[in-house]
Amino acid sequence: MGPGPTMVHERILQASARPTIGHLDSAFVGLMDEIKQLLQYTFQTSNSMTMPISAPGSAGMEACFVNLVEPGDQVIVCINGVFGHRMKENVERCGAKAIVVEDGWGSPVSLDKVRQAFINNPDASILAFVHAETSTGVLSDAKGLAQIAHDHGALVIVDAVTSLGGVPIRVDEWSLDAVYSGSQKCLSCFPGLSPVTFGEAALERIKNRKKKVQSWFLDLNLVMGYWSGEGKSAGRSYHHTAPVNSLYALHESLVMLHEEGIENTWSRHHANHKELAAGLEKLGLTLLVKETHRLPQLNAVNIPDGLIDGEIRALLLRDFELEIGGGLGDLAGKIWRIGLMGETCRSQNVNTCLNALGKVLGSESVTKVA
Ligand SMILES: *Cc1c(COP(=O)(O)O)cnc(C)c1O
Repeated sequence: MGPGPTMVHERILQASARPTIGHLDSAFVGLMDEIKQLLQYTFQTSNSMTMPISAPGSAGMEACFVNLVEPGDQVIVCINGVFGHRMKENVERCGAKAIVVEDGWGSPVSLDKVRQAFINNPDASILAFVHAETSTGVLSDAKGLAQIAHDHGALVIVDAVTSLGGVPIRVDEWSLDAVYSGSQKCLSCFPGLSPVTFGEAALERIKNRKKKVQSWFLDLNLVMGYWSGEGKSAGRSYHHTAPVNSLYALHESLVMLHEEGIENTWSRHHANHKELAAGLEKLGLTLLVKETHRLPQLNAVNIPDGLIDGEIRALLLRDFELEIGGGLGDLAGKIWRIGLMGETCRSQNVNTCLNALGKVLGSESVTKVA
């Protein structure tokens, strides 16, 4: 029950154990088409440029930045946790200028600050933000932020690594231009794949680049040569050897999500989060984030004064086989991060977690620092 990877369902593990076939085999091409359709459903989009990048979420992040950002561009980057910092790093490595909008760790991205940043920097052409900050358990208003960017003629790059499959994200309805996610958070597949989707405006911007994309592997024009072409291998060219067995697994995880229905998946995350939050409060624990901005799939719990973070987590693991996450950066040692992502997000896990925490925190043998 940490911040990912999550528990992986037996069906997904079994799918990955099927015989490996060629990445240009016509049967495999059929599976690629289904993955694309299932990802379109999951992202709530009809974007034809929707596919998994053959690498973890960080590579999806990089794919968005290297394709959309050119040297000299101005990009407004929102930082309210660990992952916003990485976006800034990406912008600067593309030779562009990052204009930082900062909010506290535990707060959402401020719409007012972003509006002001566009007024102060009228040449900014991209807004980048993290929808669901896994380091703090905060959900930001993706729809509202995209609206502000579009009002100023800019595009948005959205980190949806932890949001996809856990909370509503509607790529078409909210006009999100470039979005990346990861396989091991709420999709509950194993790590190593990064679903991405690009809308028309993003593709137009890529088409009008002055310079070639500096990354050969992540250049979308080349990747698409492999992922496009309707239903036959003839139109597809070799780009890299796709991770065939991992894609079997992603396919199965998306089929399972589709079977449940995305709205039901969102409600399940919401309901189990409510149950966990209520139980934590009964144990006398408090959450870092205000109720209105909480992320159901990642619950940041303030560690009570006098307890030793590492000791409690070690006891949970040893005595209850329960793993929860620690804090990152400034929040290290100050919060626990309890994940309720995808397959892990079950009522019995909420009960197991509350029971284990109750026993460990109530135990006489736990160290209490004055
Ligand atoms: C996990 C995560 C990433 C990075 O994904 P990897 O698969 O670890 O590369 C990026 N952004 C957010 C918000 C995440 O939670």
